[in-house]
Amino acid sequence: MPGCPEHGEFRAPGERLGGFDGPGSYRWMCLEHVRAFNAGYNFFAGMTPEEIVEAQGPYGGCERETRAFSATGADAPPKWSDLF
Ligand SMILES: [Zn+2]
Repeated sequence: MPGCPEHGEFRAPGERLGGFDGPGSYRWMCLEHVRAFNAGYNFFAGMTPEEIVEAQGPYGGCERETRAFSATGADAPPKWSDLF
């Protein structure tokens, strides 16, 4: 997965499923992500790598609220782009 530091040791179905065109493509994920993948099939489909990183961060889904709070003088949130 984009932004994930773990080794991809588990195979999951890729963008292309098996069919008339031959065997499907596969992608390799770490245990955490293959679990998430199995729990919500194609959860990350259509998301940009940046959106995926945000969704995986502690502020996932709350970025707008965090920015709103920071405007009141609280500490600025970490720059996730510096961490990944
Ligand atoms: Zn992972």
